[in-house]
Amino acid sequence: MAYKNREDKQAYNRNYNKEYYKKNPADLIAKAEYDKVYRARNKEKIKEQKRQWYLTNKDHCAAKSKKYTEDNKEKVADWYKNIWLKSESGRFSSRTAQATRRARAKQAKGSFTKLDINDLFSSQGGKCYYCRDKPNSLQIEHMTPLSRGGRNDVSNICLACAPCNLRKHTQTAEEFQSIT
Ligand SMILES: [Zn+2]
Repeated sequence: MAYKNREDKQAYNRNYNKEYYKKNPADLIAKAEYDKVYRARNKEKIKEQKRQWYLTNKDHCAAKSKKYTEDNKEKVADWYKNIWLKSESGRFSSRTAQATRRARAKQAKGSFTKLDINDLFSSQGGKCYYCRDKPNSLQIEHMTPLSRGGRNDVSNICLACAPCNLRKHTQTAEEFQSIT
């Protein structure tokens, strides 16, 4: 059977699967278990697929989320304040925006995204770049400060705890590490 387009084929498959599992409920349980194991074994692969999908569908995602925000203003504001900003992802996102604003004000070159920060968080194992402590929250740290001509991109960014960030102040990472 030929399909006019991909959507038709996907709809047909969805409906076929639904009917099939209605008749074979045990298979549905087996499939759920299979999916669970697959997801656990392919965590990185799935993460990368999602990331790629997001990158190729950025405009679509942005338009959809803009419309939802406009239609649900209060709900979104409430969610933003009480859930999003309290989550790790939300904190990274707001810190990214904050750092970007600061960098723009200092006319620093380069940019980064929340995804870059997520990657940094994973590669540092959630630890401070300098003291290797694992605080509740990490801050975005420019290894060569923007005030000293450092770039505002991942090549010059690490995540550090608040005390280290404060103590380092306007030193470069090298200067700071040579005294600690
Ligand atoms: Zn630290």
